Amino acid sequence: PAATTTAASTADSYPTTHEQIPEPQDTQNFLDNKFTASQATQWIDLYDPATNNLVTRVPQSTDAELKAAVDSAEKAFPAWRNTSLLARQQIMFKFVALIRENWDRLAASITLEQGKTFADARGDVLRGLQVAETSCGITTQLTGEVLEVSKDMETRSYKEPLGVTAAICPFNFPAMIPLWSIPIATVTGNTIIVKPSERDPGAMMILAELCEKAGFPPGVVNVIHGSAKTVDFILDEPRIKAISFVGSNKAGEYIYSRASANGKRCQANLGAKNHAAVLPDAAKNHAMNAIAGAAFGAAGQRCMALSTVVLVGETKDWVPEIAEMAKKLNVNGGFEKGADLGPVISPEAKKRIEDVIKSAEEEGATIVLDGRGYKPEKYPNGNWVGPTLIANVKPHMRCYREEIFGPVLVCINVPTIDDAINLINANEYGNGVAIFTRSGATAGRFQKEVEAGQVGINVPIPVPLPMFSFTGNKRSIAGGGSNTFYGKPGINFYTQTKTVTSLWRSEDALATKASVNMPT
Ligand code: NAD
Repeated sequence: PAATTTAASTADSYPTTHEQIPEPQDTQNFLDNKFTASQATQWIDLYDPATNNLVTRVPQSTDAELKAAVDSAEKAFPAWRNTSLLARQQIMFKFVALIRENWDRLAASITLEQGKTFADARGDVLRGLQVAETSCGITTQLTGEVLEVSKDMETRSYKEPLGVTAAICPFNFPAMIPLWSIPIATVTGNTIIVKPSERDPGAMMILAELCEKAGFPPGVVNVIHGSAKTVDFILDEPRIKAISFVGSNKAGEYIYSRASANGKRCQANLGAKNHAAVLPDAAKNHAMNAIAGAAFGAAGQRCMALSTVVLVGETKDWVPEIAEMAKKLNVNGGFEKGADLGPVISPEAKKRIEDVIKSAEEEGATIVLDGRGYKPEKYPNGNWVGPTLIANVKPHMRCYREEIFGPVLVCINVPTIDDAINLINANEYGNGVAIFTRSGATAGRFQKEVEAGQVGINVPIPVPLPMFSFTGNKRSIAGGGSNTFYGKPGINFYTQTKTVTSLWRSEDALATKASVNMPT
């Protein structure tokens, strides 16, 4: 079959090893259903995190290209919003089928550009695919309400699309996060401009190709590239009505306030510091396995990574066994069989993570397992940090205060469950939390009292399925959590409610004199 237009990847031929790509292709913009070479003068080099070989160059899309994306999305909107819901649903069915067909190809792109293992990258795709699958049920999700107020009067509400929307995505889930937005935005009748992370746009470029194949008309989904300059364009462009952002607090708090000041809707999921409280009555093996998996999987680069374990009472003695489990994890190139975790995203991230480990040492914590200096034999040039376990951590230490976003688990000892809850509630972040216990009463109390948006009971990473919503809390979400991703709130985010009140009364029943008072 003919090669498709995505740079460096076609349905039949895509990289599945970390070998140097002989001729790296530039990443392109995707406008009006066409991949177009950027006229950029600034380019961002993208390296395979396992080797630091060049994979592609990502353009800082030019002003003209950014404007063209909005022109295209604006032009596509009227016809798209008038497309029947059933027609949009059919396109979504096709999109879902195509993602399934291209699952491995998408995952391979993620492993190459982001570094996570191929098995984990397949999970990245799956969690986005599930949002698209759930969006296929739009025909029952978009219904409004009707109330017969009186015999001749009724009020009804509709959910109407907003127009041109935009998504600004982080590096850590290159398929899942664009798919938190694209299906819901489009199936509800909006057009969308996606700005993938400049560090790994490959999966989004494949998704763009699949959008075209699924039958989205030109301009319904466009992709532009770049870093802060592109983001500022999106923030200030008046024709863009709503922005979905996922990423760090530094970028996200700025984006949320500037978008809001410009009168746009904004949903912004931010950073995290997720705790697992472990009670002495927990199923020990399950708890330790779950914690090690959730702390070190994806090299800790998940917003729901369990980066802090709160050891209640005698469970402080479990540290050596957690360390033993961590030691057994195979850190290697993500395409290698048996790899449990890959490299971190960049040499800068590696240095920052190592600096945090050093700071813990200097502040008096105990480095039980030290991943600094680790190098798999085959990949000496990658951004490696091995699983690291830091015990006897105190809340004032840098390794506790900061989101580390690396394969580092910090352990804090507390005497009671109350101390665990107080510690967790005092933390400025509130994304996810987990408790490991066999006691329903303890779990029930924890669930009620803990201030985190997503609670796992014997579940380490309680990311809600797409029929629910991703409900971060505190500084893990901007705007007090009023606009959450996917689920019912996701549909509300991408739609404007219109309420229509109508009165149909026979001529002779109509009033003969104007009424100037509010009806009582
Ligand atoms: P990031 O904030 O560096 O980048 C995210 C996006 O913002 C990118 O597209 C980037 O180009 C843009 N950006 C970066 N700096 C900017 C600036 N100064 N001005 C304007 N735009 C800017 O985040 P990242 O490193 O790609 O992702 C990791 C972060 O994302 C972590 O903090 C993680 O917790 C968070 N995250 C949160 C969730 C969640 O649902 N809460 C999910 C995934 C990731």
